[in-house]
Amino acid sequence: MVNYRYKEFKSVINKLKYPDSWFWSRYTLNSYSGCAHACIYCDARSDRYYLEDFENEVIIKQDFDKKLDLRLKRARTLLPDVIAAGGINDSYQPVEKEVEQTRKVLQVIAKHKFPLNIATKSKLITRDIDILNNIAEDSWCTIGFSISTINEELANFLEPYSSPPSERFNALKMIKKGASNIQVGTYFMPIIPFLADDDYNMGDVIKQSKNAGADFILFSPGLTLRDSQAAYFIKKLRNSKYKQTVKPLLELYKGQIYPPGHYVRNLHLKLLKLCEKYNLAVRVKRWIPSDYRKWNYKISELLLNKEYMNSLRTGKSNKKLMWAGLNLNNLEESIVDVYNRGDLHMVKNFNSKIIEFIAPYLEKSKELKQKQGLEKFL
Ligand code: SF4
Repeated sequence: MVNYRYKEFKSVINKLKYPDSWFWSRYTLNSYSGCAHACIYCDARSDRYYLEDFENEVIIKQDFDKKLDLRLKRARTLLPDVIAAGGINDSYQPVEKEVEQTRKVLQVIAKHKFPLNIATKSKLITRDIDILNNIAEDSWCTIGFSISTINEELANFLEPYSSPPSERFNALKMIKKGASNIQVGTYFMPIIPFLADDDYNMGDVIKQSKNAGADFILFSPGLTLRDSQAAYFIKKLRNSKYKQTVKPLLELYKGQIYPPGHYVRNLHLKLLKLCEKYNLAVRVKRWIPSDYRKWNYKISELLLNKEYMNSLRTGKSNKKLMWAGLNLNNLEESIVDVYNRGDLHMVKNFNSKIIEFIAPYLEKSKELKQKQGLEKFL
């Protein structure tokens, strides 16, 4: 029995130091605390979140929409950028149907024309297609359905109070059909070792995503096993018909939080191949602002995607490239101006290789600018 209560909260929005290169979010907000979806692997059960009774007590943050409206109205330092709604809770958990907390929050986001990325395991999101479509038309809206398995019985064990996977795929289809401006796809995460990492399940999640009309699929074989969250998950497994997976799972992790590199790499290669087969993008297309950040964001997306694809293929990450891509988001002038002055080497983490790689794109930006200038006289 879930206990719901309203509570006052001061903070409504949090700014990240760097954008998240998976979801492209710069701000996070959580209008609920706790999640009655109660997925048995949920990382929000780990000690670092200090959520005592995570799934049995859900807090609805009082007047969240009004406070957010005030915050965005007064904000001089908050440039519009992607807001990720939910994270350690699902914005469309069951109580949302009645209290419409998320719907009110979306109305505020739409009013201030901020772009949005939202992940859910509930078909209830289709109720808000009208507002989500407005956000997409005015700025950018991405929706990701979190799906770990197509096996309904297993999903019911892992994610007991979420919509079944087939309903999530139907919701995806409905959004794709009814709101073509929204970028919609699948967040295939976490992928649970020995339960959902077989070729059949992985192939089918990707195939069904494609059939439903997904624009992208983000995958991550990195199920975490962390303190209280790991203890809860293992206990649930031990008391279930899936208990035979406990031994190999513990042997695979060897007391670590993440699965070992060789396991992740093997899955990455398989998933990449499958996405290529179904012609599905493995990255979300980024929101691009129209102010001085325009080319900074474009080039940052290019660098971060290059780093991601290289690391998928080779198993090695390139920290220099990653930090060059991340830091570029904090540059306080346009990279085109820096390029025109010949100062690219002064940008944090830029080396000659990176400069050589991005120079053709910056040349293109100059051409585009000139064209736009000429258009005035045509
Ligand atoms: S829906 Fe997300 S936040 Fe909610 S319990 Fe499941 S994994 Fe956790």
